Amino acid sequence: MPIKLLCILTSLIGCSEPITSKTELGLGTVCTITLYEQGKPQIYDKIFNRIFEIEALMSVHITESELHRINEAAGFTPVKVRDEVFNIIERALVYTELSDSAFNPAIGPIVSLWDIGGEAQRVPSRDEIEAALGLLYVRDIELDRDNSTVFLKKHGMALDLGAIAKGFAADEAARIIREAWDLLPQRQQQDYPRAIIDLGGNILVLGEKPDSSAWSIGIQDPLDSREIIGYVSIDQNKNEQKTIVTSGIYQRYFIEDGILYHHIFSSLDGYPVNNNLLSVTIISESSIDADALSTAVFVLGYEKGKAIMQSLDGVSCIFVFDDQLIRIEGDVDFVLTNSDYNLAL
Ligand code: ADP
Ligand code: MG
Repeated sequence: MPIKLLCILTSLIGCSEPITSKTELGLGTVCTITLYEQGKPQIYDKIFNRIFEIEALMSVHITESELHRINEAAGFTPVKVRDEVFNIIERALVYTELSDSAFNPAIGPIVSLWDIGGEAQRVPSRDEIEAALGLLYVRDIELDRDNSTVFLKKHGMALDLGAIAKGFAADEAARIIREAWDLLPQRQQQDYPRAIIDLGGNILVLGEKPDSSAWSIGIQDPLDSREIIGYVSIDQNKNEQKTIVTSGIYQRYFIEDGILYHHIFSSLDGYPVNNNLLSVTIISESSIDADALSTAVFVLGYEKGKAIMQSLDGVSCIFVFDDQLIRIEGDVDFVLTNSDYNLAL
């Protein structure tokens, strides 16, 4: 059961438009929604109920979730699921295809073996990892659209949507805000809603800032959670949205014998991805795209990740390397503020 943390009602100083913000725990993280002008409690309820619903459908930790049912039935029987669960699994597989299987929604057995951030986190034995590697093939996921069923062909297989669920939820929150706005009886000076959706650092900004200035979104320093490396400046029109999503070594990890083990895995060897990247940030319109791509590009590494970025329209990327060099791919207004880092020319 999510804990209600706080609900702040404030007024923007020097501005007549009230800003409200509400924070709750959901999708295994801290979710904060900030609304400008139409911050009625019912809208927050709608958004958070949807976030909790997505969690209840797609979390592997909730035993009644559809995903849990699919995983329990692995090797035995196809499981009928709701359309939206079917669709999101199908969508996940598009990113698998795009990334040559670097993005792998069948990564579940490896995720549970390591249990990074969980009570049983540990470095598994080579034998355990070897045994799990045979259970990660996406070709063993059978989707039947006519019957809306998902079948994992091998016993022990498990889906994990942790790398896209938050992106999907952020897109859904934005949709709810737009729809609520459309129903408002009396529009004020502007014709579009404004909001910041923050799902554990997966950020989506909706609309234009009240003073028409650009939104500034800080990008976390992967080596120091209290610092940022700089910020992305988003200058957009009233009806636009942008999302900024980061995958990195710092979100969930533990350190043993001086080695950092984080939560994004290679399906090739079953270990946390070990390349020269500390984090990958994607900026795009769709948050599910940004979430999937940040994980996919992080796993692929710079060269292959860059090639994917160049093949896509409207998507840009910030690579942060372990020598504290930053490389930008695509059209993004990034301002470096941290003198420990350097921006590649
Ligand atoms: P975060 O959830 O911290 O924002 P990501 O979006 O990168 O970060 O998702 C990481 C989560 O995705 C892991 O906790 C795990 O559940 C899952 N995962 C790990 N490795 C992969 C992978 N190679 N492909 C798809 N999902 C993965
Ligand atoms: Mg992701």
